[in-house]
Amino acid sequence: MAASPRPLIAGNWKMNGLSRPANKELKALGKRVAGHGGPFGCDILICPPATGITGLVDAVRSQKLARRIAVGGQDCHAKASGAHTGDISAEMLKDAGCRYVIVGHSERRADHGESDAAVAAKTAAAQRAGLIAIICIGETRAERDSGKTLRVLSRQIKGSLPAGATAKNTVVAYEPVWAIGTGLTPTQADVKAAHRHIRKRLAAAMADAGAVRVLYGGSVKADNAETLMAIDNVDGALVGGASLTAADFWPIVEAVL
Ligand code: PEP
Repeated sequence: MAASPRPLIAGNWKMNGLSRPANKELKALGKRVAGHGGPFGCDILICPPATGITGLVDAVRSQKLARRIAVGGQDCHAKASGAHTGDISAEMLKDAGCRYVIVGHSERRADHGESDAAVAAKTAAAQRAGLIAIICIGETRAERDSGKTLRVLSRQIKGSLPAGATAKNTVVAYEPVWAIGTGLTPTQADVKAAHRHIRKRLAAAMADAGAVRVLYGGSVKADNAETLMAIDNVDGALVGGASLTAADFWPIVEAVL
């Protein structure tokens, strides 16, 4: 049997995090990382708002944490450069020191009308720039209530995964939209079924699907992380609210260490 992928605990700070409090939290997280004895069994990622990327990259490097804590963007444009006011390309994220970029978060899909095709183009842009794309998928409450969850996941995987996606350049995050920021989570059986389905659909599209990290996201907190992270085919977490402070985030990291 193939070894499980190395877990990834990713924090999505969304539109939060001014530089001073962000630095304070990074220092606090760094202390916990440095103080952990024994093998370090996971990767950690922080995705600050775009304005915080260079500051965080500098802070991670100066605190000698770059081996443990990666920095990522929350979105990128599909093109490398051009007349796209307010946008940032994958190449710019790479240039700023990012290693990952989140694409197709449900808030981008809802607030900016991003389609699966747009997400596939952004994922391809991440590949082009040498970034790892975290593709977010997940059903709405209405889709869940009408029994369409697995169908929605199939459609989003098919539409959002470009040619050339491999376990090295792609992570998938299953984020039920109704669980994000609500304190609600699916049952363990539902998470298990969704992740098994995602793995199967990935296997239809990629040779190394077994090595792709499939994260769970949606109200992951210190008190439910261990249970959620123990579910088959869950290879880490994408964390919103609980990633904003080291005190909340570290116990989630510890759940997979
Ligand atoms: C998210 O926005 O990706 C997320 C999972 O948020 P929260 O953890 O706050 O539900």
